[in-house]
Amino acid sequence: MRKIQKSRFAASAMLVWVLLLAPMAALAQTEIKMPKNKYKVEDDVKLGNEVSAKVENQFPILSDSASQNYLQDVGERLVLSIPREFRHPEFDYRFKIVNASDINAFALPGGPMYVNRGMIEAAKNEGEMAGVMAHEISHVALRHGTAQATKQSNPLNQILGIGAILGGAILGGQLGAQLGALFAQGYFLRYSRDYERQADILGARILADAGYDPRDLANMFRTINEQSEGGRPPEWLSSHPDPSRRYETINREAELLRVSPEPIKLTPGFLSTQQRLRRLPPARTLEEIQKDTQSSGGQGASGGMASGRYTRNVPYPSSAARTYATGNWLLVNVPSNWKQFEGESEVWFAPDGAYGNQGITHGALIGVNKTNQRNLANATQEYVNGILQANTYLRRTTGYSSTYVDGRSAYAVMLAGRSPVTGETEYALVYTTQLRSGDLFYVVGVAPRSQSSAYNRAFNEMVRSIELND
Ligand SMILES: [Zn+2]
Repeated sequence: MRKIQKSRFAASAMLVWVLLLAPMAALAQTEIKMPKNKYKVEDDVKLGNEVSAKVENQFPILSDSASQNYLQDVGERLVLSIPREFRHPEFDYRFKIVNASDINAFALPGGPMYVNRGMIEAAKNEGEMAGVMAHEISHVALRHGTAQATKQSNPLNQILGIGAILGGAILGGQLGAQLGALFAQGYFLRYSRDYERQADILGARILADAGYDPRDLANMFRTINEQSEGGRPPEWLSSHPDPSRRYETINREAELLRVSPEPIKLTPGFLSTQQRLRRLPPARTLEEIQKDTQSSGGQGASGGMASGRYTRNVPYPSSAARTYATGNWLLVNVPSNWKQFEGESEVWFAPDGAYGNQGITHGALIGVNKTNQRNLANATQEYVNGILQANTYLRRTTGYSSTYVDGRSAYAVMLAGRSPVTGETEYALVYTTQLRSGDLFYVVGVAPRSQSSAYNRAFNEMVRSIELND
């Protein structure tokens, strides 16, 4: 079964934020506002914990405790300098070194932060290293991850939005496995330029308050540019198309801040940590680490559903289930051998050999359809018509029967037709129900007739497990 081509819904809320954050009067410190956020502070914590477990599963965390303690000390000093209005007692800022050579660092909602060994080795002094950390701490304190998701228009998108921001990591399973690839490609934690600017400005303020020279954050950009020649600059740098302007912004902000006459630069801790790290065997890049994980039998990072190849012998749905969770919003159990692929407002599940450029031949999909239809029957009809148009071989073979999904009134309808991929009769069983927003929530199970009993069982289990909390 193929995807329906949906029209895109533009998020216009973002423009408002850009306008609100236009530069203030020349001599005042630049104002920083907490962006609008519909998520609870605890959601940030939960997300960060989920993703950090995956990060630490995927990436080698350096076990050298002296270096680790040093980083934690620097981090804690910076955290103490977060301005009062941006503090969240629920957050747990914690700092770990990833044994990777790329000059990079990233922080997750709620506080877990990862600094690559390559970054510590590249920094010219502690101030430069602390600069990047202060920038990342600022993203966390301003809750940019969930704020960005807040701007998305549709409820599943919001969650998938967070997924996209976090490299799909929160979505678990297969997407979690793609984390490294996404990170290596710079898709990880891609914030808007405006958020980056806020993080620079708040970062500069934190640096100054903690006894550093905020200009060292700007200097770190130069250090990175010098050292990543030929290579790809790290995301947090490349998300700014104009690094020289960013450099100026930070230096201008620095003039408005009270900076210690003797800022912290080269400390014994910094020098000895650099020495220790440089004596270790050379680190690999995140990309190399990721490739290794794949070839050693880890879950492969797939280039998306379209890159799959259809095969004749598709494995039966595993009787073991795993939970697919999108924040608090949706919980569902799926067979553990199904991979998942997220789209704009849908997620598709399929086993190996059952997905490719023509959609899936076995598996299921879950999604949300924006609709103006007032009632479930009309909204369902509209959605089913969309499927039939995108999959001209399918016909509706039953009426719309009433049922329940997570206790809500729902419809079920069966479609069938000869699949152009398998040449066999394909069944598609559609369940629909309404979200509080009025939008249509749907689940579709897909399988060839010859395997329909095994797939029916798996699909029924899946539908029964659905928990909606919209
Ligand atoms: Zn950033």
